Amino acid sequence: ARQLVWFRSDLRTLDNTALAAAAAKGPVIAVFLHCPSQWQAHGHGANKIDFCRRGVEALREALTGLNIPLLQRSISRFSEAPDTLLALAREHDIATLHFNREYPLNEWRRDQAVVETFGQAGLGVQAHTDAVAFAPGELLTGKNEFYRVFTPFAKAWHREVDHQRLALRDDPAPQKRLALDSDPLPKLAGEGAGHPIDAGLWPAGQDAAAGRLERFLRYRARHYREARDQPSVHGTSELSPYLALGMISYRQCLQAVMSENGGHLADGDAGLTAWVNELIWREFYQHIAFGFPEVCRHRPFQAHTADLPWRDDDEGFKAWCNGRTGYPLVDAAMRQLVTTGWMHNRLRMVTAMFLSKHLLIDWRRGEAFFLEHLVDGEFGANNGGWQWAASTGTDAAPYFRIFNPITQSRRFDAEGSFIADFVPELAELSTKARHDPSGEARKTAGYPAAIVDHKAARKRALDAFKSLQTPR
Ligand code: FAD
Repeated sequence: ARQLVWFRSDLRTLDNTALAAAAAKGPVIAVFLHCPSQWQAHGHGANKIDFCRRGVEALREALTGLNIPLLQRSISRFSEAPDTLLALAREHDIATLHFNREYPLNEWRRDQAVVETFGQAGLGVQAHTDAVAFAPGELLTGKNEFYRVFTPFAKAWHREVDHQRLALRDDPAPQKRLALDSDPLPKLAGEGAGHPIDAGLWPAGQDAAAGRLERFLRYRARHYREARDQPSVHGTSELSPYLALGMISYRQCLQAVMSENGGHLADGDAGLTAWVNELIWREFYQHIAFGFPEVCRHRPFQAHTADLPWRDDDEGFKAWCNGRTGYPLVDAAMRQLVTTGWMHNRLRMVTAMFLSKHLLIDWRRGEAFFLEHLVDGEFGANNGGWQWAASTGTDAAPYFRIFNPITQSRRFDAEGSFIADFVPELAELSTKARHDPSGEARKTAGYPAAIVDHKAARKRALDAFKSLQTPR
């Protein structure tokens, strides 16, 4: 009997749980629902939407090699998904619909509605766990609660993870041709708002992702621990957009690590094990989004921080967005985000802390700006990262540990070469001067004075946090 596989943020044919399960049961038809207005409502901008569309094209090609047709439909809201899928299932005589679970609140609700609609119609539907080793709820504390802190979560993850959770799913063999063609990518109304970054920076699809993983393991992974904090070095995998849209799976990443590391994930090469830890962070934040759905409703994880007296400061916010705060590392980072659709992790921490602490601007404004520009925008990691920086989240940075952006700059961009790349007006200065140019040098370069004084801003943030009622 025919199977329908609904692709979403799992744009690959390799190691895909839903596809493997469907292919084992019968001939497969694939479907992708384009839903740009809902994505925009969720805050995703043109960069991610464009990357996703290119990913769907690449998926269609990969599916063509397996004789699996890819149907494409446009819907304007998630609420149209159940009826759209049901109509397709009836039209094509489908026995069972398969998909891989997604965990943020709206996606989860959409999927529940699809499951109900198919159930009522008497059609089969199977939701699979694919994006994470443990479905949220499977890994709980001794008190049967969701973990609120990363380290014990990671320990439990390592303790419980087994062969089955890490094993690659079967790649489907080419099936017999069906009398059905793939649909072309639909033209979408409302598309093209803003200017996507150079698509060549992020070639889409599972082959591009596999190439990146291979290069990372060959050239960078063993230096990851030392190099991962230096934005001028390509020391990290730059796989986040591919993981966010499922052009590569966590299992493929971990299998590759194990084959380089004598079969181990927790012991062995320090670079490889540090990298595994980051993949577990990603999973942790998906559990948080599911276990504490208030974070999906724009609420802080630590409820008492909802009362923080955020400042209304449109000028400051604009300066931050435009990379004109007068703090060179912050500005270089923000320009990296806007021009490439990606920002180095160290700098995401620095810039997020600068907005939420130095400017005392509501972290949710920064969260939204990131999502609008990131190619790798992912609710769990982005929200988790912002709440970490703003000290409102799970393992959040203690509110009194406020990064000094100039010290961070001297430490992590010692040569000032990242600054020179993204703030070219400072490239002529000596490496030492780039971190904090003199008033004279700023004037000559047309570079602004610092919009806040570090010490004063720090004190203002500390006072704001101290004004909170401590949690009961
Ligand atoms: P690597 O260092 O190679 O790590 C491998 C993978 O692990 C990444 O691709 C990513 O999937 C995952 N990962 C790494 N660090 C983290 C982390 N701290 N939390 C969760 N997962 C992680 N990551 C996103 O994928 N999407 C986002 O929208 C996002 N927003 C962020 C916002 C803020 C304020 C902060 C502080 C972090 C954010 N991160 C986000 C996490 C992290 O910065 C990126 O995943 C990382 O920079 C991606 O680069 P990479 O692929 O080279 O990472």
